[in-house]
Amino acid sequence: MSSDRQRKAAKIREVMREEGDAVRESAGHHNEMRKDAVARLDDYEDLRDRARAIKEDAIERLPELVDELTDSVEANGGHVYLAEDAADANDYITSVCADADTVVKSKSMTSEEVDVNDALHADGLDVWETDLGELILQVADDSPSHLIGPAMHFTTTEIADLFNDVFDPDEPLETPEELTAFARDLLSEKFAEADVGMTGANFLCADSGSMALVTSEGNARKTVQATDTHIALAGVEKIVPSIEELYPFVELLAKSGTGQDLTSYVTMLSPPVDSPSQGVDGPMTAASADDRDFHLVLLDNGRMDMRDDDHLKETLYCIRCSACSNACANFQHVGGHAFGGETYSGGIGTGWEAGVHGLDSAGEFSDFCTGCSRCTTACPVEIDIPWINEVVRDRVNHQGREEGFDFLVDGLSPDAEPGRLDVEKRLFGNVGLLADAGSATAPLSNLVASFGPARDLMERVTGIDARRDLPEWQRETLQDWFARRGGSTVDEAAASRSAVLYPDVYTDHVQVERGKAAVRVLEALDVHVTIPDLPESGRAPLSQGMIDTADDRASAVYGGLAEHLDAGRDVVVIEPSDLAMFREDYEHFLPDASFERLSENAYEVFEYVYGRLDEGATLDALRAGHERLAYHAHCQQRTLDLAPYTESVLERLGYDLLTTDVECCGMAGSFGYKSEYYELSMDVGEDVREQLSTTDAADRRVVASGTSCLEQLSDLLRKPTRHPIEVVDPRR
Ligand code: SF4
Repeated sequence: MSSDRQRKAAKIREVMREEGDAVRESAGHHNEMRKDAVARLDDYEDLRDRARAIKEDAIERLPELVDELTDSVEANGGHVYLAEDAADANDYITSVCADADTVVKSKSMTSEEVDVNDALHADGLDVWETDLGELILQVADDSPSHLIGPAMHFTTTEIADLFNDVFDPDEPLETPEELTAFARDLLSEKFAEADVGMTGANFLCADSGSMALVTSEGNARKTVQATDTHIALAGVEKIVPSIEELYPFVELLAKSGTGQDLTSYVTMLSPPVDSPSQGVDGPMTAASADDRDFHLVLLDNGRMDMRDDDHLKETLYCIRCSACSNACANFQHVGGHAFGGETYSGGIGTGWEAGVHGLDSAGEFSDFCTGCSRCTTACPVEIDIPWINEVVRDRVNHQGREEGFDFLVDGLSPDAEPGRLDVEKRLFGNVGLLADAGSATAPLSNLVASFGPARDLMERVTGIDARRDLPEWQRETLQDWFARRGGSTVDEAAASRSAVLYPDVYTDHVQVERGKAAVRVLEALDVHVTIPDLPESGRAPLSQGMIDTADDRASAVYGGLAEHLDAGRDVVVIEPSDLAMFREDYEHFLPDASFERLSENAYEVFEYVYGRLDEGATLDALRAGHERLAYHAHCQQRTLDLAPYTESVLERLGYDLLTTDVECCGMAGSFGYKSEYYELSMDVGEDVREQLSTTDAADRRVVASGTSCLEQLSDLLRKPTRHPIEVVDPRR
């Protein structure tokens, strides 16, 4: 393993050991709560569409809204400062605090982004975080591991030990109630002492200068009211045109983040506001709005450049609910201290880090996103988070590369990427060529791949973990077999339907039996089958951030399919991740009309079988049975909501089916093969292993739809696995 891979692997191991359990419990719990909460919303999709549209409009009109907000705040008696970068923001904030001794703060990731606490401390100010999670981090001298649960990685016992050690209370603290009461007393003193209160802002209304603060502790409201000077630091992207636009966000934010119907405190302020009439121990100050100062610091720090960037722009729609982190299997197992950069974490953290801190920070963790797209369906503003990660990876691939040396690989390299691309990425991104060579030289290729010293060398050079079994290349590919049998046994002119079976790399070269089964199943349903020679879909290079190569492959695949689409043939796909390319990712590569044509005519194999049965094809043509099956659906299949087709067909045929509810097996294409991620991959897979090892599941035949799931489940369970199409194969 290279030293960089070793460093990453060691860090992941450490974070999994130290923080994994706590993060997993909390993020996993919030993810389940989110699903329940949004299921209760009849108009969830409509709200998402509205939220997205509002953000698109607001970011499009951002300069105009900044001006409008500035006028509104100044008309209310406040001040607005547009800070170019972190240093600029901190200079302004410290100048406002020039006469202050103590600052109280509510939680704000934007303040973490600019490290304002360091700037204030350097100026001699006493700064106190008043959000309990942030207070824990302040006391521990730690950093947030999650967008809204910054201390998610701490257990109650660890917090109690920390507080007992630092504060030495009369009675040792133990329970959450005791810890909370202690923090409340401590912070009450700090609120009373404070001269300046700092908040962030979840939303800023341009027309009125009002702000929405969403918290679960009420501390932001108190931070504003307990002090005479209020500084709000917010990214420029937080502006919406007016209060009218807040409704979908308020509905979606809490449900997406924590699964609550409404966050405990939603505070609307049009600062400067009157001081409170009541504090914890009675009246605190009597200042009216006239005596109070309000400073809105609007932070650019790369955001305006992001707005001009076709790919990073979407990041600015983010309302920082954290649903994407909670929905992500890798995040659930390591949290933001591994899956995160200088400030931001999780899948969307890549976009934020690339925009505000630069590619080095973003590139350090963007590979944790496996492109499964589970986050996209969880995101209340429909951000294509995997695409942002792929784009950032592509930019990292090109960063610092000496393009002048590209002539060395021109014509020699099988892809469209620059010279000096990481060998691991180039290898995984060109898996189609590897497969051609593997099949052409099988069984020798498989013998070499199973030879220990060869695997050690391969791990050192390519990063493929030596602990992984490699795919066993078949000498006779699916296309060879299909040609040898003379093509389809169903006459096209007389067939009910005609379909192209897409020969994805793994079906063609490794899982050939599932390809043969698919051909026989389709023919049993009176479908004429064609298997043209088509390239790899582009999924492999896309996952490595090789976007030009993925683009080339998309064009080539569409070029090869066009004549079949012209002839009225459907496209049937076995591998869910390739179907996801046709249905979603190709939107980035193909002209609109081509993309729509392919996405509307491409079907997952069981979706197609289900459709044929719906059209009246007889179920008797398929193999029925009462066998007990344990089925694991691929994550892309879940995202595309396709698993029910497999379940329905198997159940109609009489099979006793148990479906796992674990969303990710941990393999995720090439991710689990990489030596630096092997242990994380196996840790994520532990959930599905446990579920398939229960009394009810252990004796079942394990079936799964994705190649990587099949391989991971074989490794985890040490028993053979099959694609479900082989179960219903009439010739089985
Ligand atoms: S990207 Fe979407 S899901 Fe993730 S934090 Fe932002 S708004 Fe929430």
